[in-house]
Amino acid sequence: MDETKSRRILVIEDEPHTRKALCSMLVQDGYEALEAGTGTDGIAQCISSRPDVVLLDLGLPDIDGIDVTRQIRDVSEVPIIVVSARSREADQITALDRGANDYVTKPFRDGELLARIRVAIRSLGRPKEISEPFVVGDLRVDPAQRRVLVGDVEVNLTPTEYKLLLAMVRQAGKVVTHEQLLREVWGPGYLREVQYVRVYMKQLRYKLEKEPAQPKYLLTVPGVGYRLKVDA
Ligand code: CA
Repeated sequence: MDETKSRRILVIEDEPHTRKALCSMLVQDGYEALEAGTGTDGIAQCISSRPDVVLLDLGLPDIDGIDVTRQIRDVSEVPIIVVSARSREADQITALDRGANDYVTKPFRDGELLARIRVAIRSLGRPKEISEPFVVGDLRVDPAQRRVLVGDVEVNLTPTEYKLLLAMVRQAGKVVTHEQLLREVWGPGYLREVQYVRVYMKQLRYKLEKEPAQPKYLLTVPGVGYRLKVDA
């Protein structure tokens, strides 16, 4: 996976121990690590150093991490992975809604965080409108032909089911919140209709998963939303 090497990752984290640990993990994996101990410094470095990925702690001393997310989004499309404690789960969801790309809960395993970074890097420079087939396990989604296959069997999806699946494919490997899905599939007037997503996700699982109650592809992220599995 050489394309992921010598990428520049900015770590915005006020706790020196955690920041050093993250940076040495990144350097060991072949990345260049930049560090910022405050939100202000982090935003400034996003502009001056143009990192490829940002790891963002939400509990910062000067600016709230949610605001940092928004301010980075004003100046950059850089993928932002929130790295934060479980007690701030509600904030993590808001951060995703404000434009963060993914989140990892502390304490995390290094392998898990590095895998998310690779997903973020793979999405760099990829156009939003996908036309390449998406494949994981025996599931194949071919947007160019509007076809969905499980093994050799073509699956018939309703227009809404298909839109929901495509929204997941566009964000494959990342956490997608209920609100993000509602905005994309139903529109900004439906952001509170979480049950729509639940109902349609259930239908999709019945059509695509061998064991819908124990999905292998369309995974639930409790309290947050969903993640479409990608091949490791
Ligand atoms: Ca902190």
